[in-house]
Amino acid sequence: VRLFEQDTLLVPNTWIVVRIDGRGFHKLSNHYDFAKPNDKRALELMNAAAAHVVRSIPDICFSYGISDEYSFVFDRHTSMFDRRRDKLVSTVVSTFTAAYTLLWPQFFLASTTDIASPDCGLDLAHLPTFDGRAVVYPSDANLRDYLSWRQVDCHINNLYNTTFWALVQQGGMSQTAAEEHLKGTVSGDKNEILFSRFGINYNDEPLMYRKGSCIFREYDTLPPPANTLQTDPSGNATGAGSLAEAAVSDGSDYRLSDVPEKLSRTQLDKQRKAKAKAQVVIKHLDFIKDDFWKQRPWILGGHPLRTR
Ligand code: ATP
Ligand code: ATP
Ligand code: MG
Ligand code: MG
Repeated sequence: VRLFEQDTLLVPNTWIVVRIDGRGFHKLSNHYDFAKPNDKRALELMNAAAAHVVRSIPDICFSYGISDEYSFVFDRHTSMFDRRRDKLVSTVVSTFTAAYTLLWPQFFLASTTDIASPDCGLDLAHLPTFDGRAVVYPSDANLRDYLSWRQVDCHINNLYNTTFWALVQQGGMSQTAAEEHLKGTVSGDKNEILFSRFGINYNDEPLMYRKGSCIFREYDTLPPPANTLQTDPSGNATGAGSLAEAAVSDGSDYRLSDVPEKLSRTQLDKQRKAKAKAQVVIKHLDFIKDDFWKQRPWILGGHPLRTR
Protein backbone atom coordinates (compact mmCIF):
# COMPACT_ATOMS: atom_id res chain seq x y z
CA VAL A 1 0.00 0.00 0.00
CA ARG A 2 2.88 2.39 0.53
CA LEU A 3 3.59 2.36 -3.21
CA PHE A 4 0.25 4.05 -3.89
CA GLU A 5 1.49 7.17 -2.09
CA GLN A 6 3.33 9.17 -4.72
CA ASP A 7 5.33 12.24 -3.81
CA THR A 8 5.94 15.09 -6.18
CA LEU A 9 9.36 16.57 -5.44
CA LEU A 10 9.94 20.14 -6.53
CA VAL A 11 12.96 20.65 -8.79
CA PRO A 12 16.19 21.32 -6.85
CA ASN A 13 17.91 24.70 -7.03
CA THR A 14 14.74 26.62 -7.96
CA TRP A 15 12.69 29.23 -6.14
CA ILE A 16 9.55 27.64 -4.71
CA VAL A 17 6.62 30.04 -4.40
CA VAL A 18 3.52 28.91 -2.51
CA ARG A 19 0.60 31.24 -3.22
CA ILE A 20 -2.52 31.05 -1.10
CA ASP A 21 -5.81 32.76 -2.03
CA GLY A 22 -9.06 33.23 -0.11
CA ARG A 23 -11.91 31.07 -1.36
CA GLY A 24 -14.99 33.03 -2.34
CA PHE A 25 -13.79 36.19 -0.60
CA HIS A 26 -15.99 38.36 -2.77
CA LYS A 27 -19.00 36.81 -1.02
CA LEU A 28 -17.25 36.53 2.34
CA SER A 29 -16.25 40.20 2.27
CA ASN A 30 -19.91 41.15 1.74
CA HIS A 31 -21.06 38.83 4.51
CA TYR A 32 -18.69 40.40 7.05
CA ASP A 33 -19.24 43.94 5.74
CA PHE A 34 -15.69 44.65 4.55
CA ALA A 35 -15.27 48.33 3.67
CA LYS A 36 -14.89 48.83 -0.09
CA PRO A 37 -12.58 49.10 -1.91
CA ASN A 38 -10.09 48.36 0.91
CA ASP A 39 -10.95 47.09 4.37
CA LYS A 40 -7.91 48.02 6.45
CA ARG A 41 -8.73 45.45 9.17
CA ALA A 42 -8.92 42.63 6.62
CA LEU A 43 -5.57 43.57 5.05
CA GLU A 44 -3.87 43.89 8.44
CA LEU A 45 -5.27 40.50 9.45
CA MET A 46 -3.84 38.96 6.24
CA ASN A 47 -0.47 40.56 7.14
CA ALA A 48 -0.56 39.28 10.72
CA ALA A 49 -1.35 35.73 9.58
CA ALA A 50 1.41 35.87 6.93
CA ALA A 51 3.95 37.22 9.45
CA HIS A 52 3.13 34.22 11.65
CA VAL A 53 3.82 31.89 8.69
CA VAL A 54 7.18 33.58 8.01
CA ARG A 55 8.15 33.39 11.69
CA SER A 56 7.23 29.73 11.99
CA ILE A 57 8.88 28.60 8.73
CA PRO A 58 12.48 29.93 8.74
CA ASP A 59 13.08 28.76 5.15
CA ILE A 60 10.64 31.36 3.82
CA CYS A 61 12.80 34.31 2.78
CA PHE A 62 10.18 36.71 1.40
CA SER A 63 6.44 37.03 1.13
CA TYR A 64 4.06 39.41 -0.59
CA GLY A 65 0.35 39.95 -0.16
CA ILE A 66 -2.53 41.83 -1.80
CA SER A 67 -6.28 41.50 -1.38
CA ASP A 68 -7.02 37.90 -0.28
CA GLU A 69 -3.76 36.39 -1.55
CA TYR A 70 -0.23 35.90 -0.23
CA SER A 71 2.87 34.51 -1.98
CA PHE A 72 5.53 32.80 0.14
CA VAL A 73 9.01 32.40 -1.35
CA PHE A 74 11.25 29.59 -0.04
CA ASP A 75 15.05 29.80 -0.08
CA ARG A 76 16.18 28.30 -3.34
CA HIS A 77 18.15 25.59 -1.54
CA THR A 78 15.46 24.69 0.98
CA SER A 79 15.32 21.02 1.90
CA MET A 80 12.18 21.37 3.99
CA PHE A 81 10.11 18.16 3.71
CA ASP A 82 12.66 17.09 1.07
CA ARG A 83 10.87 19.59 -1.22
CA ARG A 84 7.69 17.48 -1.28
CA ARG A 85 5.04 19.60 -2.97
CA ASP A 86 2.01 18.37 -0.99
CA LYS A 87 3.69 18.81 2.38
CA LEU A 88 4.94 22.33 1.58
CA VAL A 89 1.64 23.62 0.16
CA SER A 90 -0.61 22.07 2.79
CA THR A 91 1.59 23.22 5.68
CA VAL A 92 1.66 26.82 4.44
CA VAL A 93 -2.10 26.90 3.79
CA SER A 94 -3.08 25.40 7.13
CA THR A 95 -0.59 27.48 9.15
CA PHE A 96 -1.94 30.61 7.46
CA THR A 97 -5.61 29.67 7.88
CA ALA A 98 -5.20 28.71 11.54
CA ALA A 99 -3.55 32.06 12.31
CA TYR A 100 -6.11 34.02 10.25
CA THR A 101 -8.97 32.42 12.17
CA LEU A 102 -7.36 32.75 15.59
CA LEU A 103 -6.41 36.40 15.04
CA TRP A 104 -9.76 37.41 13.49
CA PRO A 105 -11.22 38.77 16.78
CA GLN A 106 -8.18 41.02 17.29
CA PHE A 107 -9.06 42.81 14.07
CA PHE A 108 -12.82 42.43 13.73
CA LEU A 109 -14.30 42.76 17.21
CA ALA A 110 -15.33 46.34 17.95
CA SER A 111 -13.89 46.17 21.46
CA THR A 112 -10.41 45.46 20.07
CA THR A 113 -10.26 48.16 17.38
CA ASP A 114 -10.65 51.90 17.31
CA ILE A 115 -13.02 51.65 14.35
CA ALA A 116 -16.65 52.25 15.24
CA SER A 117 -18.09 49.15 13.63
CA PRO A 118 -20.35 46.44 15.03
CA ASP A 119 -18.95 43.25 16.53
CA CYS A 120 -18.20 40.82 13.78
CA GLY A 121 -17.50 37.29 15.01
CA LEU A 122 -16.93 34.39 12.65
CA ASP A 123 -19.77 31.93 12.05
CA LEU A 124 -19.37 28.31 11.02
CA ALA A 125 -21.33 28.75 7.78
CA HIS A 126 -18.93 31.48 6.63
CA LEU A 127 -15.52 30.37 7.82
CA PRO A 128 -12.60 31.85 5.89
CA THR A 129 -10.75 29.16 3.91
CA PHE A 130 -7.82 29.36 1.50
CA ASP A 131 -6.51 27.32 -1.38
CA GLY A 132 -2.83 27.02 -2.27
CA ARG A 133 -0.49 26.10 -5.10
CA ALA A 134 3.26 25.83 -5.60
CA VAL A 135 5.10 27.18 -8.62
CA VAL A 136 8.86 26.94 -9.16
CA TYR A 137 10.95 29.63 -10.83
CA PRO A 138 14.40 28.64 -12.10
CA SER A 139 16.23 31.99 -12.06
CA ASP A 140 16.36 35.07 -9.85
CA ALA A 141 15.02 37.07 -12.80
CA ASN A 142 12.06 34.68 -13.17
CA LEU A 143 11.27 35.06 -9.48
CA ARG A 144 11.49 38.85 -9.66
CA ASP A 145 9.27 38.85 -12.75
CA TYR A 146 6.69 36.84 -10.83
CA LEU A 147 6.75 39.17 -7.83
CA SER A 148 6.69 42.27 -10.05
CA TRP A 149 3.66 40.85 -11.85
CA ARG A 150 1.82 40.58 -8.51
CA GLN A 151 2.79 44.14 -7.54
CA VAL A 152 1.69 45.49 -10.92
CA ASP A 153 -1.59 43.63 -10.45
CA CYS A 154 -1.98 45.30 -7.07
CA HIS A 155 -1.58 48.73 -8.69
CA ILE A 156 -3.95 48.04 -11.60
CA ASN A 157 -6.67 46.53 -9.39
CA ASN A 158 -6.39 49.19 -6.72
CA LEU A 159 -6.56 52.10 -9.16
CA TYR A 160 -9.60 50.53 -10.80
CA ASN A 161 -11.33 49.71 -7.49
CA THR A 162 -10.60 53.14 -5.98
CA THR A 163 -12.15 54.87 -9.03
CA PHE A 164 -15.05 52.41 -9.25
CA TRP A 165 -16.03 52.84 -5.59
CA ALA A 166 -15.59 56.66 -5.72
CA LEU A 167 -18.10 56.73 -8.61
CA VAL A 168 -20.50 54.53 -6.62
CA GLN A 169 -20.07 55.85 -3.06
CA GLN A 170 -19.43 59.54 -3.77
CA GLY A 171 -20.75 59.91 -7.32
CA GLY A 172 -24.04 58.13 -6.61
CA MET A 173 -23.69 55.83 -9.64
CA SER A 174 -25.04 52.29 -9.70
CA GLN A 175 -22.37 49.56 -9.82
CA THR A 176 -23.42 48.68 -13.39
CA ALA A 177 -23.20 52.32 -14.49
CA ALA A 178 -19.77 52.74 -12.87
CA GLU A 179 -18.51 49.60 -14.60
CA GLU A 180 -19.81 50.89 -17.94
CA HIS A 181 -18.25 54.31 -17.29
CA LEU A 182 -14.80 52.78 -16.73
CA LYS A 183 -14.84 50.49 -19.76
CA GLY A 184 -11.93 51.26 -22.08
CA THR A 185 -10.30 53.81 -19.74
CA VAL A 186 -6.54 53.84 -19.22
CA SER A 187 -4.81 54.70 -15.93
CA GLY A 188 -4.46 58.40 -16.86
CA ASP A 189 -8.25 58.60 -17.30
CA LYS A 190 -8.87 57.05 -13.89
CA ASN A 191 -6.41 59.41 -12.18
CA GLU A 192 -8.20 62.31 -13.87
CA ILE A 193 -11.68 61.12 -12.81
CA LEU A 194 -10.46 60.74 -9.22
CA PHE A 195 -8.85 64.19 -9.16
CA SER A 196 -11.31 66.32 -11.10
CA ARG A 197 -14.54 64.78 -9.81
CA PHE A 198 -13.64 63.78 -6.27
CA GLY A 199 -10.53 65.81 -5.41
CA ILE A 200 -8.61 62.58 -4.77
CA ASN A 201 -4.91 62.51 -5.61
CA TYR A 202 -4.30 58.79 -6.16
CA ASN A 203 -0.71 59.11 -4.96
CA ASP A 204 -1.99 60.19 -1.54
CA GLU A 205 -3.85 56.91 -1.04
CA PRO A 206 -2.29 54.72 1.69
CA LEU A 207 0.85 52.83 0.62
CA MET A 208 -0.58 49.50 1.84
CA TYR A 209 -3.39 49.82 -0.72
CA ARG A 210 -1.16 50.96 -3.60
CA LYS A 211 1.89 48.74 -3.06
CA GLY A 212 0.59 45.72 -1.14
CA SER A 213 2.57 44.28 1.79
CA CYS A 214 5.88 42.48 1.86
CA ILE A 215 7.24 40.55 4.82
CA PHE A 216 10.86 39.57 5.34
CA ARG A 217 13.64 39.42 7.95
CA GLU A 218 15.59 42.60 8.65
CA TYR A 219 19.08 42.46 10.16
CA ASP A 220 20.70 45.14 12.30
CA THR A 221 24.23 44.43 11.17
CA LEU A 222 25.43 44.63 7.61
CA PRO A 223 26.29 41.21 6.22
CA PRO A 224 30.01 40.66 5.64
CA PRO A 225 31.15 40.72 2.01
CA ALA A 226 30.30 37.86 -0.33
CA ASN A 227 32.56 34.81 -0.52
CA THR A 228 33.81 35.22 3.04
CA LEU A 229 35.50 31.99 3.97
CA GLN A 230 33.60 30.08 6.63
CA THR A 231 35.50 28.07 9.18
CA ASP A 232 34.31 25.22 11.34
CA PRO A 233 35.24 25.10 15.06
CA SER A 234 38.59 23.45 14.24
CA GLY A 235 39.48 26.36 11.97
CA ASN A 236 39.26 24.45 8.69
CA ALA A 237 37.78 26.23 5.72
CA THR A 238 34.46 24.69 4.73
CA GLY A 239 31.49 25.32 2.50
CA ALA A 240 31.12 26.46 -1.06
CA GLY A 241 33.18 29.63 -0.48
CA SER A 242 36.43 27.68 -0.63
CA LEU A 243 35.17 25.61 -3.55
CA ALA A 244 34.36 28.71 -5.55
CA GLU A 245 37.69 30.30 -4.78
CA ALA A 246 39.45 27.19 -5.99
CA ALA A 247 37.37 27.36 -9.16
CA VAL A 248 38.30 30.98 -9.71
CA SER A 249 42.01 30.20 -9.42
CA ASP A 250 41.35 27.37 -11.88
CA GLY A 251 40.07 29.89 -14.39
CA SER A 252 36.78 27.97 -14.72
CA ASP A 253 33.43 29.78 -14.58
CA TYR A 254 32.01 27.55 -11.86
CA ARG A 255 29.48 29.69 -10.01
CA LEU A 256 28.92 29.73 -6.28
CA SER A 257 25.18 30.26 -6.68
CA ASP A 258 24.74 26.97 -8.54
CA VAL A 259 26.02 24.88 -5.67
CA PRO A 260 23.78 24.21 -2.69
CA GLU A 261 25.97 25.05 0.27
CA LYS A 262 26.90 22.13 2.48
CA LEU A 263 26.85 23.69 5.91
CA SER A 264 28.25 22.11 9.01
CA ARG A 265 25.95 21.55 11.99
CA THR A 266 27.54 24.56 13.75
CA GLN A 267 26.95 26.77 10.73
CA LEU A 268 23.36 25.61 10.40
CA ASP A 269 22.82 26.31 14.07
CA LYS A 270 24.28 29.82 13.71
CA GLN A 271 22.05 30.45 10.72
CA ARG A 272 18.96 29.25 12.54
CA LYS A 273 19.74 31.46 15.53
CA ALA A 274 20.37 34.53 13.35
CA LYS A 275 17.05 33.99 11.60
CA ALA A 276 15.19 33.49 14.86
CA LYS A 277 16.71 36.69 16.28
CA ALA A 278 16.01 38.77 13.18
CA GLN A 279 13.03 41.06 13.17
CA VAL A 280 10.25 40.02 10.80
CA VAL A 281 9.01 43.27 9.26
CA ILE A 282 5.92 44.23 7.24
CA LYS A 283 6.59 46.96 4.66
CA HIS A 284 4.70 48.56 1.80
CA LEU A 285 7.51 49.19 -0.66
CA ASP A 286 8.17 49.07 -4.38
CA PHE A 287 10.28 46.02 -5.20
CA ILE A 288 9.94 46.16 -8.98
CA LYS A 289 13.06 48.36 -9.18
CA ASP A 290 16.48 46.94 -8.24
CA ASP A 291 16.94 49.15 -5.16
CA PHE A 292 14.87 46.99 -2.81
CA TRP A 293 16.93 43.86 -3.56
CA LYS A 294 20.29 45.65 -3.61
CA GLN A 295 19.63 47.10 -0.16
CA ARG A 296 18.70 43.65 1.21
CA PRO A 297 21.06 41.18 -0.48
CA TRP A 298 20.39 38.47 2.13
CA ILE A 299 16.85 37.88 0.84
CA LEU A 300 17.89 36.30 -2.46
CA GLY A 301 21.41 35.53 -1.20
CA GLY A 302 20.01 32.66 0.84
CA HIS A 303 22.06 33.35 3.94
CA PRO A 304 21.22 35.67 6.82
CA LEU A 305 24.84 36.59 7.46
CA ARG A 306 26.48 36.34 4.09
CA THR A 307 25.57 37.47 0.59
CA ARG A 308 26.38 35.94 -2.74
P1 ATP B 1 -11.90 32.67 -5.64
O1 ATP B 1 -12.44 31.64 -4.69
O2 ATP B 1 -11.92 32.22 -7.06
O3 ATP B 1 -10.56 33.22 -5.24
P2 ATP B 1 -12.86 35.26 -4.76
O4 ATP B 1 -14.26 35.76 -4.56
O5 ATP B 1 -12.02 35.09 -3.53
O6 ATP B 1 -12.98 33.89 -5.58
P3 ATP B 1 -10.72 36.89 -5.83
O7 ATP B 1 -10.37 37.14 -7.25
O8 ATP B 1 -9.72 36.14 -5.01
O9 ATP B 1 -12.16 36.20 -5.81
O10 ATP B 1 -10.98 38.31 -5.20
C1 ATP B 1 -11.06 38.53 -3.84
C2 ATP B 1 -12.20 39.50 -3.53
O11 ATP B 1 -12.32 39.62 -2.13
C3 ATP B 1 -11.95 40.92 -4.03
O12 ATP B 1 -12.42 41.07 -5.33
C4 ATP B 1 -12.74 41.74 -3.04
O13 ATP B 1 -14.10 41.79 -3.43
C5 ATP B 1 -12.68 40.93 -1.77
N1 ATP B 1 -11.65 41.42 -0.81
C6 ATP B 1 -10.52 40.78 -0.44
N2 ATP B 1 -9.83 41.50 0.45
C7 ATP B 1 -10.53 42.63 0.66
C8 ATP B 1 -10.33 43.79 1.48
N3 ATP B 1 -9.25 43.92 2.26
N4 ATP B 1 -11.25 44.75 1.44
C9 ATP B 1 -12.34 44.65 0.66
N5 ATP B 1 -12.60 43.59 -0.13
C10 ATP B 1 -11.71 42.59 -0.13
P1 ATP C 1 4.55 14.97 12.02
O1 ATP C 1 4.58 16.44 11.92
O2 ATP C 1 5.65 14.30 11.35
O3 ATP C 1 3.19 14.38 11.67
P2 ATP C 1 3.71 14.33 14.74
O4 ATP C 1 4.32 14.67 16.06
O5 ATP C 1 2.39 14.94 14.41
O6 ATP C 1 4.79 14.66 13.61
P3 ATP C 1 2.46 11.77 14.21
O7 ATP C 1 3.07 10.51 13.69
O8 ATP C 1 1.48 12.45 13.30
O9 ATP C 1 3.63 12.75 14.65
O10 ATP C 1 1.83 11.40 15.57
C1 ATP C 1 0.93 12.20 16.29
C2 ATP C 1 1.27 12.18 17.77
O11 ATP C 1 0.41 13.14 18.41
C3 ATP C 1 1.02 10.87 18.46
O12 ATP C 1 2.16 10.07 18.46
C4 ATP C 1 0.64 11.30 19.86
O13 ATP C 1 1.79 11.50 20.62
C5 ATP C 1 -0.01 12.65 19.66
N1 ATP C 1 -1.47 12.59 19.65
C6 ATP C 1 -2.29 12.78 18.60
N2 ATP C 1 -3.55 12.68 18.93
C7 ATP C 1 -3.60 12.40 20.24
C8 ATP C 1 -4.64 12.16 21.16
N3 ATP C 1 -5.92 12.19 20.80
N4 ATP C 1 -4.32 11.92 22.41
C9 ATP C 1 -3.03 11.88 22.82
N5 ATP C 1 -1.99 12.09 22.00
C10 ATP C 1 -2.27 12.35 20.71
MG1 MG D 1 -9.98 34.59 -3.64
MG1 MG E 1 -7.66 36.81 -4.81
